[in-house]
Amino acid sequence: MGKVWFVGAGPGDPELITVKGRRLLKGAGAILYAGSLVDQAATLYAPAGCVIRDSKDMTLEEIAAWLIDQARRHEAVVRLQTGDPTLYGALIEMVQPLDAAGVEIGVVPGVSSAMAAAAAATESLTLPEVTQTVILTRIADRTPMPDGESLRELALHHCTLCLFLSITLLHKVKEELLAAGWSVDAPVLVVHKASWPGEEKLIRGTLADIRDKCRAEKVASQAMIIVSPALGARQWPELKRSKLYDASFTHRFRKGVKAAQ
Ligand code: SAH
Repeated sequence: MGKVWFVGAGPGDPELITVKGRRLLKGAGAILYAGSLVDQAATLYAPAGCVIRDSKDMTLEEIAAWLIDQARRHEAVVRLQTGDPTLYGALIEMVQPLDAAGVEIGVVPGVSSAMAAAAAATESLTLPEVTQTVILTRIADRTPMPDGESLRELALHHCTLCLFLSITLLHKVKEELLAAGWSVDAPVLVVHKASWPGEEKLIRGTLADIRDKCRAEKVASQAMIIVSPALGARQWPELKRSKLYDASFTHRFRKGVKAAQ
């Protein structure tokens, strides 16, 4: 019996898969990839003769059955997921039937679209004395949110929010954030197809106008929404600097010097 690897493909740019993920693809007997988001990595790195299949028309049961069947035929099987497999990737639902069938599994992390979106826009998700916390979440849709996790409640922290699966619900995002005390001028960043060569789009706006701007750019899918008090800091004239690089700050690797009086 072979091993099934759940591998994060990264956000789209095939160079953003990990070295380990690429090595596993190169040695895979079979690859099942998730929709059109990651087919490039699968086809670029798969060895000749590898069985490659798109899972977009398959149910969870079919996916599990396919992976188990391929694990009987090959030493290494890869389930290629977008971004990082532990975020909104139905990982546990796929792992349980493999456990039940006695198939060994492994998980390889990937660059999440939240990180790729911040990188695309040269934004820092944390900034000293502005926000030191990032919440990765989504807005309720057909998938309800568990108690205590409505966007309105999470937004009360006024920290960085990275919203997955929410681009068609920008009107609700605005409503919830306003209810949590955010200003209508609060900056919002939307990144469509972050890291996709030639296809990435950055849209900057505020809670007031981001929906219209996305409409005008025809962005209605595959987009990360970042709302954060740290957005736009690259242009700020004054920053609270990170203590780590401050001349007066002592840590394990460097002794700080007292500032001249
Ligand atoms: N596991 C993935 C998320 C899967 S859920 C990850 O870690 O990124 C799918 C959602 O992820 C999309 O609705 C969108 O919000 C976001 N997403 C995935 N790829 C993206 C990309 N390249 N650019 C922007 N958002 C992306």
